[in-house]
Amino acid sequence: MSNLKDKNRFIIVSNRLPIKMEKEANSWRVSPSAGGLVSALSPILKNRGGIWIGWTGTTERIGLRPCREILDNMSKEIGYRIFPVMLTENEVSLYYYGLSNEIIWPLFHDLPGLANFDPTYWRAYRKVNEKFARAVARHSRNEDLVWVHDYQLIPLAQKLKELGIERRCFFFLHIPFPSPDIFMKMPWRYELLSDLLEYEFIAFQTAQDRRNFISCLNNMPQKLKTSGRGPVIEVTEGEKKIKVAYLPISIDFKSFTRMATSEKVCAMLKDYKKKLHRKTVILGVDRLDYTKGIPLRLKAFQMALEKYPQLHENVTLVQIVVPSREEVLAYSELKNNIETLVSSINGTFTTPGWVPVHYMYHPVPREELVALYRLADVALVTPLRDGMNLVAKEYCACKIDNDGVLILSEFAGAAAQMYHHALIVNPYDTERMADLILKAVEMPTKEKKSRMRNLRKKLKEQDVFWWVDNFLRAATGKALVDFPEKELPPILYAISPRGRS
Ligand code: UDP
Repeated sequence: MSNLKDKNRFIIVSNRLPIKMEKEANSWRVSPSAGGLVSALSPILKNRGGIWIGWTGTTERIGLRPCREILDNMSKEIGYRIFPVMLTENEVSLYYYGLSNEIIWPLFHDLPGLANFDPTYWRAYRKVNEKFARAVARHSRNEDLVWVHDYQLIPLAQKLKELGIERRCFFFLHIPFPSPDIFMKMPWRYELLSDLLEYEFIAFQTAQDRRNFISCLNNMPQKLKTSGRGPVIEVTEGEKKIKVAYLPISIDFKSFTRMATSEKVCAMLKDYKKKLHRKTVILGVDRLDYTKGIPLRLKAFQMALEKYPQLHENVTLVQIVVPSREEVLAYSELKNNIETLVSSINGTFTTPGWVPVHYMYHPVPREELVALYRLADVALVTPLRDGMNLVAKEYCACKIDNDGVLILSEFAGAAAQMYHHALIVNPYDTERMADLILKAVEMPTKEKKSRMRNLRKKLKEQDVFWWVDNFLRAATGKALVDFPEKELPPILYAISPRGRS
């Protein structure tokens, strides 16, 4: 299907813009945010004169016009247009912290007991999605392709339709999709499924997520037909046909390997090695989140130390926890829980010259993280549920000498691609995790290298550019290279709100 004209542009819509806005005295400091998704999508946006629409991340009253002026300067720097959706404190509290993070996040990560099904959240969620839809309507043209990202914006295509705006809309869900027995607890389950069916193309991270989605569709009152097999199938609802795919997101593999060999990272690595004094290093890197399974991981490590004295004074767990949503009770309790476990392990096992757990509760600069990935003999990636888990992939990308072992939760999306060569674990099975820690530490070099070589080979082939390319092929029939280079268009049209729907 190659019915796209040269005029098609990509409109990326996500909850957050790919920038950070920080207030400094009376001015704003804006910086681009890094990350695989941004680096994969930027070339298309640059080349096609596309745009990115999203929330600025602040609820400060700036005024739309001054905000656009601030962002226009950033647009010039990054090479494509970014347009803000301004949200009030109340909207953020109900739509973002409420519906998105107190309902969809726990429910879709198989933790329905943590969901707070407050109906005011649902109404705000739909209202804010309408706000995003208005921004899309204002800044896009009929022939543009709208690519919506993630669970905060599921109703966006439906909201565009309600506004009478016709656009080709695609959707990618970055988090898992739960099985029907969990999903059906959602009071607005049919509305959410109907919202998803307004996209002409929907993609999930794994085959399991898509299977769950199709099973949920089968619970809907109306009759739907599913046909086809393989990564892209078709769902038919009356006259409407929707393509439903699974496509695992990835990382910029080359950029991680390049950084891993940089002078700065090599110097940091040397320094760490000296400081950690020939200890075997096990690494955990997670955002503070109850889905990441950090307490169970710490318990497994404690069990490993109890069961296997040969690990004493030889093995150190470096656990990085990146602060997140601390104002939410569940998160502050989790932090306390983690810190109690860390101090209990260290209190029990520390000897002069050996601290079993090195705990860092702060973000780590990228180069430092890459040096830690290189340093770590074992990565312990054990989420209770995760859409993908990029840390697992970044770790392997940085193991340029193939000298590392990945212990990976079977409930991380990454396991679908990595299960052959990682040590796969059920994150609830702490006894088995403790045994796998020993297995990883004692793994013969030959086996270690062979496993890591295979993991890296697949990651190199299926990087984030492969992901974007395949998404575009499946959604539009066009490949990434079919979107030719183009000058950044003048800004005049985009800031005029009139006559552009
Ligand atoms: N990360 C970071 N700062 C840190 C530690 C990690 O930015 O101090 C990054 C890490 O490189 C990875 C991301 O955070 O790209 C975590 O992604 P993942 O998919 O593992 O989990 P998420 O936090 O998105 O649920």
